[in-house]
Amino acid sequence: MSDENLTKPRQAEPVSGGCQCGAVRYSIGRLGKATICHCRMCQKAFGNYFAPLVVAHNIEWTRGKPAIFRSSETNWRGFCNQCGTPLTYEYEGHVEIAIGTLDNPDLAPPVQQVNARYRRHGVHGLIQLPEKPLDEMQQDELWNQSVVSHQHPDHDTEADYQPGD
Ligand SMILES: [Zn+2]
Ligand SMILES: [Zn+2]
Repeated sequence: MSDENLTKPRQAEPVSGGCQCGAVRYSIGRLGKATICHCRMCQKAFGNYFAPLVVAHNIEWTRGKPAIFRSSETNWRGFCNQCGTPLTYEYEGHVEIAIGTLDNPDLAPPVQQVNARYRRHGVHGLIQLPEKPLDEMQQDELWNQSVVSHQHPDHDTEADYQPGD
């Protein structure tokens, strides 16, 4: 990996993002520390091996609001109640946002693993897994190009935007 790939891209402020259907959109004044959390609660909340999260300072909900599941006595998890996208991990006075929901997730490269002792076995060596052979990759790419997406684009849209447009 070249040093270039490790350099944090310049953060254009504020930072925008939202759920996959576009019913919930946000603007973040400043991004804080980005981590991946391996705890079992994050695995369930994200339906995944771990949760990539970045601290969101001065977050404003610019369209809709996340629905909230109170996942513990002290914590809340926000998600879109129309498309199910996990959006936040929260405790009193503190909001972290799911990195994959940023319009540009590269703005928040994780710098630390949290709750590493709960890391699932499958995580080790994930990116060393063999890639599909070239001809299959090319077929996948053709397929990708044929997909008509119903997801919200990676930028803010007009107020009359309808999910699925
Ligand atoms: Zn949504
Ligand atoms: Zn966690």
